[in-house]
Amino acid sequence: MRESPASGKFPLKTVPRKHLLDSREMLRSLVLGGAWLLLWRLAVLMEYAPHASIWFPPAGLSFAAFLIMGLRAVPIIMLCSLIATFWVDDLYRMQQSWEQLAYTGVLFGAAHSLSYYCGAALLKQLIRSSFSDALPKIILSFLILGTLASLLGALAGTQVLAGSGLISSQEASAIWLPWWIGDMAGTLVLTPLFIGLLSWRYPLIEGWLGGLDFKQSDQSWYGFLSKLLLSTSLLTLTMLLAANFRYSEVSFAMFFLIIPQMWIVYTESPFRAALSLAIFSTLTAVWVSALSLMDFALVYQFAICVIAASAYFGLAVPVLVAHNKQLRELALSDSLTKVASRQHFFEQAEQEVARAKRYQQPISLLVFDIDRFKQINDQFGHTAGDNALVLVAEAIGKGLRQSDLLGRFGGDEFLLLLPATSLEKACETAERLRQALHAVKVENTRHFLSGSFGVVQLEADEDFQHAFERADAYLLKAKKAGRDQIYSNRPQAQN
Ligand code: GH3
Ligand code: MG
Repeated sequence: MRESPASGKFPLKTVPRKHLLDSREMLRSLVLGGAWLLLWRLAVLMEYAPHASIWFPPAGLSFAAFLIMGLRAVPIIMLCSLIATFWVDDLYRMQQSWEQLAYTGVLFGAAHSLSYYCGAALLKQLIRSSFSDALPKIILSFLILGTLASLLGALAGTQVLAGSGLISSQEASAIWLPWWIGDMAGTLVLTPLFIGLLSWRYPLIEGWLGGLDFKQSDQSWYGFLSKLLLSTSLLTLTMLLAANFRYSEVSFAMFFLIIPQMWIVYTESPFRAALSLAIFSTLTAVWVSALSLMDFALVYQFAICVIAASAYFGLAVPVLVAHNKQLRELALSDSLTKVASRQHFFEQAEQEVARAKRYQQPISLLVFDIDRFKQINDQFGHTAGDNALVLVAEAIGKGLRQSDLLGRFGGDEFLLLLPATSLEKACETAERLRQALHAVKVENTRHFLSGSFGVVQLEADEDFQHAFERADAYLLKAKKAGRDQIYSNRPQAQN
């Protein structure tokens, strides 16, 4: 009977492992808690009305933490919410009893955790059931669930504060909207950045991010920093204009700044795009505070959300471009030998033939097939056979001109197009290649290869398909005549 892994086959190994995980978990929670409280203090600096921040970074961190750590993040987020409640009392000089504050803090923590945990858990569920190329769907789900989670968080949070007397019910009905938009801005802008930061430590995350690679970046930091500088300078200019003219119309200029952000999204890695969005929105909040642009706060909050949402959809573009490039490479080249695939060879050949006709240049085609290749597979195995095909492609490819095109028709049959080459020259090339094949040895054996060749020069009015059929017929003749030979309609070329 097979022993199940859970039956304790390696009991000694599992105990220290669990222990190690626990201490790691503790450290992770401590870092998370420290970061959360730091961001909470930062959010207070960006407050434009009591309890309403331009954007609320801890919301983004909570969402990312629940997404990655699940329920394990609840205790530390609850603790942070409790501490934050005491800070609220201190900041607004409510002077409530500590028992009352502890009670409010627990309720507030529960409201905050429940809202963001539900959003994150639902998102995780959706991501896991998606296919890897469903990035737009994942982004849409993130935007909707991030928005709903922050709405729920704002409604429940204001109700808790009102219920405990920390704010009046009028205040609650006045602040839930800016609270929500601030939390939403924090969630939509920062969650991907935190996921990006965490994905360095937890590479698993990328598996369920629809092809987003947060580490990948082959461009220089210099280019990114220049784009970032341009984007932040334009933001500063927009803010200074709004501060100078104080018309709400001027504040709407902020929406134009989607252009440099999209430029960054299209040309930089996803992580840099997320970083740029975070810097851009922090700077927005700092300028609103520094230039006393509180009257336009809602415009800026909406602008941040709209720019972030567009940027995330934009993230799908570089991913799709990369996928397309991969697919193109797969379609253009033969996966084993890396020479042109049959389809690509035929497409290219049609074009070359048309060009040769236009310039009245000769063009020739060579078709060759390895002799008794089946024997190699049978004798040495298919891996040795595959390897031999790769060696053939390399050996043949070595002696070619830049303009020549080598392709694999399939199996052990290859095609070689020789532009600006007459039949005579093509037969010379075939002879050279026939001899080159004699030097190719099946790896770790004493078995050398040989091949049979069919060669044609295209007639003036002949299409490529017809020329291929002729060359293939010559190849067949070469096989029938005993192999390791070249056949063409040039009698002296025949062995
Ligand atoms: P001939 O001299 O008449 O060409 O004899 P042959 O044994 O080479 O016969 P043929 O060209 O008709 O068959 C080629 C064989 O190559 C058939 C198949 O088993 C094998 N083959 C086709 N594709 C691959 C491949 O990708 N890898 C390997 N290892 N073998 C392949
Ligand atoms: Mg063969």
